[in-house]
Amino acid sequence: MITFTNVTKMYGENVGLENASVNIENGDFVFLVGPSGAGKSTFIKLILKELDADAGKIQVGEYDVTNLSNRQIPQLRRKIGIVFQDFRLLPKKTVFENVAFAMEIMHKSRRQIRKRVPQVLTLVGIGDKAKRYPQELSAGEQQRVAIARAIINNPKVLIADEPTGNLDPDTATGIMQLLDEINETGTTIVMVTHAKDIVDRMNKRVIAIESGHIVRDDYGQYGYDE
Ligand code: ADP
Ligand code: ADP
Repeated sequence: MITFTNVTKMYGENVGLENASVNIENGDFVFLVGPSGAGKSTFIKLILKELDADAGKIQVGEYDVTNLSNRQIPQLRRKIGIVFQDFRLLPKKTVFENVAFAMEIMHKSRRQIRKRVPQVLTLVGIGDKAKRYPQELSAGEQQRVAIARAIINNPKVLIADEPTGNLDPDTATGIMQLLDEINETGTTIVMVTHAKDIVDRMNKRVIAIESGHIVRDDYGQYGYDE
């Protein structure tokens, strides 16, 4: 689903990623870990073609990202859902409207939106919050809205950038259960995290980056003391 082959991205003299090769299969759940400045954001931005690689090849699904035309970039990004540490919801829209907006952008009909949004809100456990505004919700509920928005158009890949970073441990556990359920429906998940306890508990594939190099790629523990 996501293949990097000998990918290098420099920022002037700074190494973002150097000669990195990795293959993430369709349906995988991968934790991307490493210290600050390691290259995790660079890796994510290359997948989304927010950055261009200097060398190497990147394939995401059917897309040859390295040779993608500007016209095709929106098509690539539609195949990828994203959630962030800080939720990034629209404060003046209700929960329903926040999620519906992602379907409107895809030119889905009002009928499709009225049918699908409540289904997905129920799926993520906030079926009763459709009329609320983001600031009326707990942090965990807001992250559920963000996840609903990210999966509403059935992306092949879900990128989660420190999705539990603003959540207390119990709430984080609930969000991880939800991500696990989404993964079990076939969505490939790449999650950037510093949460050692979560990585250790989930026992998934761990890709570790340090100074722009993939230093580890196996299953199990977080493997850092921070
Ligand atoms: P992480 O997300 O793991 O914290 P980044 O991918 O943001 O790491 O950064 C990797 C390296 O690239 C770091 O040394 C960082 O300082 C450098 N870097 C990232 N973005 C830029 C930029 N726009 N200009 C210069 N250096 C950058
Ligand atoms: P993260 O919290 O994901 O690690 P950072 O705080 O490292 O993100 O980076 C935030 C933004 O600043 C990113 O867009 C990154 O590209 C940019 N950036 C990171 N390091 C540098 C740098 N040394 N010089 C310029 N921009 C940088």
